[in-house]
Amino acid sequence: MYVCGITPYDATHLGHAATYLTFDLVQRYLRASGRKVKFVENITDIDDPLFERASRDNQSWKELGNSQVALFTSDMTALRILPPESYVSVTEAMDSIIVAIEKLAATGYTYECAGNVYFRTKEFLPNLPIPEAEALKIFAERGGDPLTPGKENALDPILWVAEKAGEPSWDSKLGRGRPGWHVECSVIALENLVGADYLTQTNQSNYEIDLQGGGSDLIFPHHFMTGAIGKALTSVDFASSYVHAGMVGLDGEKMSKSKGNLVLVSNLLKSGFDPMVIRYALLDSHYSKDRMWSNELLSNAQIRVDNLRSALSRNEVAPIDQLLRKIVDALADDLNTPLALSLINEWVDGNESGKSGGSIGELSRFLDSTLGLAL
Ligand code: ZN
Repeated sequence: MYVCGITPYDATHLGHAATYLTFDLVQRYLRASGRKVKFVENITDIDDPLFERASRDNQSWKELGNSQVALFTSDMTALRILPPESYVSVTEAMDSIIVAIEKLAATGYTYECAGNVYFRTKEFLPNLPIPEAEALKIFAERGGDPLTPGKENALDPILWVAEKAGEPSWDSKLGRGRPGWHVECSVIALENLVGADYLTQTNQSNYEIDLQGGGSDLIFPHHFMTGAIGKALTSVDFASSYVHAGMVGLDGEKMSKSKGNLVLVSNLLKSGFDPMVIRYALLDSHYSKDRMWSNELLSNAQIRVDNLRSALSRNEVAPIDQLLRKIVDALADDLNTPLALSLINEWVDGNESGKSGGSIGELSRFLDSTLGLAL
C-alpha cells in the first residue's frame, strides 16, 4: 500500500492525524488477518508551499522540512500510528523521478509550454472522477495552472518545472529544474512496491499496487494524475483500490490554514491531552466521512477512556468472546470504528451488573492490536 505523505512546512493537524489513523487501521487489520504488508509513504520535501514558507520565514527549505518531519513523526508516535515500512522523500527519489520523466518524454507523454514540461492527460480524461467543469475549478485551487496559455489541455499538470532562482534544481535531459507535484508519488510507489525494474521490464502485468490512499482532497487532481502518470509509465492500472479519508472541520467550519483554525496535534499534546483520548475521539467517526472536531468530542472521549480504563482494572469483568468477534466484524465492514467503540461501551456498561468470566489481559491486547488503544 502507498499513502501520500505530508509536505513538511506546517505542523501536523487533526486532518493529518485522521488520515494516517485510517491507514494505521488498514495496516493493523491486514496484519491481524495474517497478511504481509508492504507500506510506503512519501514526504513531499520539494513543493511550492514549502519553498514559499521557507522564504517567508527566512529559513532554509531543508531545515524547515527536517524540523517539520521530526514533529510529524513524533506526533504520529504519540498517537500510536503504525509507521510505514519506509518514508521516502522526493529528494531521496530524485534520480528515479528524473529517469521516469525522461521515459515519459521519450514515449510521447510530455510537451513543453512556457518553459516547463507538461504531462499529456488527453487519453486519461475520459476517466475523470468528477465532471470536467468541477475538475477545472479544483485543479486551479490545488496547485494546477489551467489558464497558462499554450497548454494542449487545461488539465495537463506540470511534470518538470524549469529552474527558478532561489529554488533547488537538478540536471535532466529536459534541462535543469525540479519535478512538479504528482509524478513523485507514481515513481516512489512503483519503485518501492513493484520493483525498480518497472521502467525496463516488458511484462508489467504485475505492476499494479494494491492500494493508494490519502485524504479525500487528493482524489482530484492528485490521485487521478498519479494514476495516469503511473499507467503511462507501466501501461497497466496504477492501483487496484483507492482509499480516502474524510476531512476534519472545527465547530461547524472547514478547518484550514487560511482560516487559522487548524487544531494541531502537538498543541493538544502540549495542553496535556492524553494521546489515547485524542485517538479515541478520532476513532469515534467513520474514516471515510467528513467530521467535525469540538472540545465536546474530546471531553466525551475522555469520559469513555476513563470508564474503559477503570473496567480494565477490575478483577472480574464480563465475558469478552462475543465482544471480540463483533469488533472484528465491525472492522471487517469497511473499518466501522464507531460501531466498534459503541460495542466496547456496551461491554463497559455491562460490567456494572457484576458479570464475570472475561479475560482483561486478552481484551487489552486485542484493543491495542486492532484499534491501537493502549490503555
Ligand atoms: Zn501522493
